[in-house]
Amino acid sequence: MHDVPHGEVRVRLVWRQRTWRCPEAGCLRGTFVEQVPTLVSPRAQVTRRAVAWAIGQLRREHATIAGLARRLDVSWWALWRAVKPELQRLADDETRFAGVTSLGVDAHIWHHGYRRKKGP
Ligand SMILES: [Zn+2]
Repeated sequence: MHDVPHGEVRVRLVWRQRTWRCPEAGCLRGTFVEQVPTLVSPRAQVTRRAVAWAIGQLRREHATIAGLARRLDVSWWALWRAVKPELQRLADDETRFAGVTSLGVDAHIWHHGYRRKKGP
């Protein structure tokens, strides 16, 4: 499990995930694996804390998924798979517009389009 880097040091958590077996003879599931959703989403390689950290880096430090994946020592896809649903959840939250009266566009970025042409 990959967690928030400590300075330049990559952090890995070792987690002994328990596997449970159902004693019912007719059980369709049979076994299931311990989940701790407050620590990590199912099948994710990064902790929820690392996902929150990565989103903060994207928002405030102009970080990229590729750069953050390197710092977390996971693949681009492993990080994006963990970050995307959280970004979607945040984007779907209409309360983020509470109190907003106007929105702006960064004209500087607007003018650095494809092949350095101006405009959209
Ligand atoms: Zn069962």
